[in-house]
Amino acid sequence: MDFTDLGFQYHKTHQNYLSRYRDGAWDQGILRDEDTITISAFSPAIHYGQQAFEGLKAYRTKDGHIQLFRPQDNAARLRESCKRLLMPEISDEKFLEACRQVVLANLDYVPPYGSNATLYLRPYVIGVGLNLGVRPAKEYLFGVICSPVGSYFKGGLSPVDFMVTEFDRAAPNGTGKAKVGGNYAASLYPNHMAHELGFADCIYLDPATHRNIDEVGSANFFGITKDGCFVTPKSSSILPSITKKSLMVLASQIGLCVKEEDVPIDGLDRFAEAGACGTAAVITPIRSITYQESKFVFPTGNEVGPTTRKLYDMLTKIQFGDLEGPEGWTTKIV
Ligand SMILES: *Cc1c(COP(=O)(O)O)cnc(C)c1O
Repeated sequence: MDFTDLGFQYHKTHQNYLSRYRDGAWDQGILRDEDTITISAFSPAIHYGQQAFEGLKAYRTKDGHIQLFRPQDNAARLRESCKRLLMPEISDEKFLEACRQVVLANLDYVPPYGSNATLYLRPYVIGVGLNLGVRPAKEYLFGVICSPVGSYFKGGLSPVDFMVTEFDRAAPNGTGKAKVGGNYAASLYPNHMAHELGFADCIYLDPATHRNIDEVGSANFFGITKDGCFVTPKSSSILPSITKKSLMVLASQIGLCVKEEDVPIDGLDRFAEAGACGTAAVITPIRSITYQESKFVFPTGNEVGPTTRKLYDMLTKIQFGDLEGPEGWTTKIV
């Protein structure tokens, strides 16, 4: 298997984890070979979108260990998503144990250090069972599947072009903060339109006023102002990115002021650099944003800005074990 040329797609791995919730409790869970599940066609996950997911990566370090990056934060976020959709919660212990088992069962699919690739873990919770009316399921599945992956946007750390879509991915008090499939279903069409027009993805504005940047469909937005601030949108309808939260800490470590505030779409000229950040996207520099008839090109153009590069290096060095991060950021699996 060539780990240096992976995009973001599924490659079959050895085993995955599956646990069932029945009569008010989760079972132990098992590792299994098949990457399919059989559920009732009446399952609320299918018709009413009662499902949530997570995404995190296992990184191989230079000395051959394998570690996760802030998995407790993924566990906590999954609990928030489950709460929002009335699904039973998963404890930190259960979440971490499932991830640990999946990594250990797929050791030879964890890409080698230096390939820049990782083993992507996809935990999910779905409501299953016979259920015709709109009400929460009585039974649930919690699974963790995995696949080796490379970069999410083509080209890795090379600047991409985004366009602002007129569609919303979430409502002001909807499910934008929860990592649920419904938000993604709503983003498929705008995302497809953006691709058709030659853009890497689209940017969503805040659904209440359509004046400020909310986020990219699968990654949060940040900009570096000309006077040295790391700025990222404050909004109740964006998904709280763990990568973003980490970059805010790293940015302040390197002396940037850090602000979470409205980012007006018509005020982009305050920025020297901009990027999209998330587990899958890592940091993807933004070359330009097209809004209605006008295209704003960031001063960095085809280059990666110096601050973006510095943050990328710090973040990925911590993730791959080359740099000591703040206490508790990495969890060693083996
Ligand atoms: C998962 C996700 C992100 C990125 O969050 P990370 O914790 O950094 O991986 C950003 N936006 C949306 C909509 C997401 O679903």
